[in-house]
Amino acid sequence: MLGALINLLYPVLCRVCSEKINEFDRNICADCAKKIKERLPPFCIKCGRQLKGDPELMAVCPDCKKHAPYFDRAWSACHYDNPLKGLIHDFKYKKISSLSTDFTALIIDFMKKYNVGKDCQMILSIPMHSRRLFKREINHSDILAQGLGKKLGISYSSNTLKKTKDTLFQSKLKREARIKNLHLSFSLKDSSIVRNKNILLIDDLFTTGSTVNECSRLLKNSGARYVEVITLARGDSI
Ligand SMILES: [Zn+2]
Ligand SMILES: [Zn+2]
Repeated sequence: MLGALINLLYPVLCRVCSEKINEFDRNICADCAKKIKERLPPFCIKCGRQLKGDPELMAVCPDCKKHAPYFDRAWSACHYDNPLKGLIHDFKYKKISSLSTDFTALIIDFMKKYNVGKDCQMILSIPMHSRRLFKREINHSDILAQGLGKKLGISYSSNTLKKTKDTLFQSKLKREARIKNLHLSFSLKDSSIVRNKNILLIDDLFTTGSTVNECSRLLKNSGARYVEVITLARGDSI
C-alpha cells in the first residue's frame, strides 16, 4: 500500500527503456524483462554449459570430462547478453543494489523450473578480499545471496567463506594460471558449519568457473556433502 503510494508520487522508471514501472520494487519493466534470454537445456550435468541436442540429453561436456569440477553441479539462469549485461554492470560498478530484486526473481524462476537447490540447507556467496571490498564498497555476490536466502527461507551467512589472498583478475589469465592464482585463496571461518551440509553457492556470473570451483574444493575438503552452484548469467551461447 505504502509502496503503491510512493510509486504514484515518484514513479519508478525502467533502467533499460525509461518507461514507467508499476511494481515499486523493480528496476526493469515487464517488456524489458522478457528481452533477458533464459538459458535452455540441454546443459552439461556438471558445469551447466549449454550443449547442443535434445533438451532431455544428460551429458558431461568435454571440459568436465577432462577436469572434473569439485562442485556437484552448476547452473546459470540467463545468457550474458544485453540488456542483462548492462544491468549487471550497473549492479556491480554503479552500485545499484536494488537490482538484486529483479535478479533474484530471474534466478528463482530458473531454480523452480529445474529443481535447483531443492535439498540445500545453506546459501553461501563468493567472498571478496577486504582490500577489494574496501574499493568496491559492496560485494554483489553477497547482496544476491542475501536476497535469495530471504526469498527461499534458507539460512545465509556472509562471513562463512573468506577471501584471504588478494588475487589477480582471473579474466587475464590462462587456465593453469587461474588455478594457481586462486589456489588456497579462500578460507572457512569454521569448517564445522559446512560439515555434512548441502550448500548452494551464489555468484553473478559464470566465466571460467575457476572461482566457484576453488570455493567448492575448500567446501568439499571441509566435509560439505553436496555443493551446487547457481549464477545469474553465463556467456556460453551456442
Ligand atoms: Zn523497459
Ligand atoms: Zn561441463
